[in-house]
Parts: sequence; structure tokens; C-alpha cells
Amino acid sequence: MSVIYQKVALIGLGLIAGSMAHAMRAGGLAGQISGYARSAETRDAVRQIGFCDDVTDSAVDAVRDADLVVLAVPVGAMETVTKEIAPMLAPGATVTDVGSVKADVMASIAPHLPDGVFFVPGHPLAGTEHSGPHSGFAELFEGKYVILTPEPDTDPAATARLRALWEGCGAMVEEMEAEHHDLVLAVTSHTPHLIAYTMVGVADHLRRVTESEVIKYSAAGFRDFTRIAASDPTMWRDVFLSNKEATLDILGRFTEELFVLQRAIRMGDGEALHDYFTKTRAIRRGIIEAGQDTDAPDFGRAPVKKDGPGT
Ligand code: NAP
Repeated sequence: MSVIYQKVALIGLGLIAGSMAHAMRAGGLAGQISGYARSAETRDAVRQIGFCDDVTDSAVDAVRDADLVVLAVPVGAMETVTKEIAPMLAPGATVTDVGSVKADVMASIAPHLPDGVFFVPGHPLAGTEHSGPHSGFAELFEGKYVILTPEPDTDPAATARLRALWEGCGAMVEEMEAEHHDLVLAVTSHTPHLIAYTMVGVADHLRRVTESEVIKYSAAGFRDFTRIAASDPTMWRDVFLSNKEATLDILGRFTEELFVLQRAIRMGDGEALHDYFTKTRAIRRGIIEAGQDTDAPDFGRAPVKKDGPGT
């Protein structure tokens, strides 16, 4: 594969940026990769791991002469880092982000970008519950979707170039409007995470079944909730604060459905429960047919990095 960007600057060096760097290297997609993270600890770790050609002590130094800048920090930190790097962005450069929420993030980045810089927001629907520079791996995006949410007046050539980079990383790229993205992700990722956090919280409150019993019997479904609920607290706090409306909408619908099932259980309405569970089973089949998960049995499944939830 050929070089798509001469210099890529990664701002934030955790799971997503690290995985991008590994994948860009594997595919020969970037002439040079510069990186910046706020803590000396992370910068030192990346120097040791070696997935960047150089790691700078300031964000401004990392973006100097870059033709692609990737903002890979928590959603709530996007505005601050954009303000910091804006004066150093080269005309003709593309800025993208990997934030899990789009409308709110775009509103916090776009106003600070100088004229002549292209902004193509993005979100890879791939991830694990692990974070930090050691958690990245080149195959993270293989066969996974990346959603780009450019504004209608965004330069199509800038979007096409970023699309080529993600495809080079093994991803399938789709474009959609930011608000639509946020609603879809509230259903497929954000609300399920909130439910997982809640379920683990409930178990934690029930002191009788915590500690030994919760851990001992965790194979039966609860284990997957705990895996999702181990996701990074900062990232998820920011996701809910940024995708407030869509999450509250879906949570309202979820609560209504829960009451329907609660009533069916109370009334002993086995037919209603059976019909409901038959419909949901079909959705699982659809996900497997779309290649977004495997049909491997869950119980006793070996813990593989690639099985992590996307956001
Ligand atoms: P991560 O592994 O926790 O890495 C986050 C990076 O951002 C670290 O380098 C961290 O620096 C830096 N950072 C944290 N807070 C910051 C702040 N206030 N100011 C400046 N830098 C800060 O996170 P990640 O999973 O790669 O997520 C990065 C972005 O990708 C987020 O916007 C998230 O929504 C999105 N995303 C995540 C997933 C997922 O499953 N994890 C999937 C798709 C998209 P230090 O290490 O120095 O603290």
C-alpha cells in the first residue's frame, strides 16, 4: 500500500491512537507518525513501545507540518487541545477526531480551526475495555466500521483521503450526519454501556451476592456486563455528557420496554415473553451475518482482545 499522508500527528496516545499507529505502520500508510500525550508517563511508554517515529513534549510540536492531525483524547478534552494546536496547523492539513460522539464534538472543534484546514470528523466503531498506550494493536479496525460525519460543504477530496487511510487500516467506511450517528450509537453502544454500569452497580449494592459469589458464578452473562462496565470512566463520563439528548431518548424507550416485560412476568404471560425473546434472537443472528461478531459459544470463551465492545 502507498503512503496516504506524509506526516500524521496523533494527539492523545491511548488505545485508539496506538492502534491507528500500529495499523498505519503495518500498511505503510504514513510517511512519518508524530505523537503527543499530556503525561510524561504515557510519552515515555510510547517512546519505549516505539509506535511513533517521534514523541513530542508539546501538542504544538507534534502537529507542525502534519498533513493529518488525529485528535484521540476523551470527548470532553477535544476543545482544549484544538485551541492549543490551532495556530500551528498548516493550510491544506486535515484535522479529524475519533470521538464516540459527533454533533457535540464537532461543535467544540470546528470554530477553532483556521481557514484552509479541512475538518473531517470520524468515529471508529471498534474498541476494547482496555485503555492506554499498551492496549493498542494493528488489527483493531479490521472488518469494523468507521463512520465519517463531514459537513455538506467539506472538501470531498479531504474526506476521500481520510477514507482511504481508514480502509488501509482494514476498516469499512460509511458517511452519515452527525445527529444520526449520535442516535444510532446511543442505541448500539452508549445506552448498553449505561445498562452494564447499572447492572454491575446493582450487584455491588447487593452485598449478599458480591465478592465471592458474583465472581464465582460470573460466567452466566453477568461476566460480559462486568467487562463492559470496566471501560474507562473518563471516556464514558464524557460520552454521556456529550450525547445527552439521544441517550436520554433511548433510555426512556428502554424503561418503557422494561415495564412491558416486568408486567408480562408479573401476569405470567409466557407467550408475550417468548414472542419478545424470539424477535431479539433474530437481531443477534443479523449481527453475526453482518460479520460484526462470531457465532462462537460465549460460555468458557477464551478472553481475546478482539472481542471487546466498540463504542
Ligand atoms: P485512552 O486509551 O484512555 O487514551 C486517551 C488519551 O488521551 C491518552 O493519551 C491521555 O493522555 C489523553 N488524555 C486524557 N485526558 C486528557 C485531557 N484532559 N487532555 C489531554 N489529553 C488527555 O482512550 P481511547 O480509548 O484511545 O479513546 C480516545 C478517544 O477515542 C475518545 O474520544 C473515545 O471516545 C474514542 N473512542 C474510544 C473507543 C474505545 O472503545 N475505547 C472506541 C472508539 C472511539 P495520558 O495517557 O497522558 O493521560
